[in-house]
Amino acid sequence: MGIEIEVNAARCMGSKTCTWAAEGVFVMAGDVARVANPSAAPLDDILAAAEGCPTGAINVKKDGQPL
Ligand code: SF4
Repeated sequence: MGIEIEVNAARCMGSKTCTWAAEGVFVMAGDVARVANPSAAPLDDILAAAEGCPTGAINVKKDGQPL
């Protein structure tokens, strides 16, 4: 199953922080981030992006378990 990354579009306020923290994984689609390529950055960077999201809009799971 591996890593699943999800952006809750309703919570995203478009700060773009995630697109810098995990470059290539997240891209902006207008005012909302979306997942472009889950393999584009190391897991640590993806987790840092999730922790750094000001609205907690990013959820990361591994094998179905929240990280
Ligand atoms: S860091 Fe969070 S609020 Fe900012 S663009 Fe990414 S998902 Fe949206």
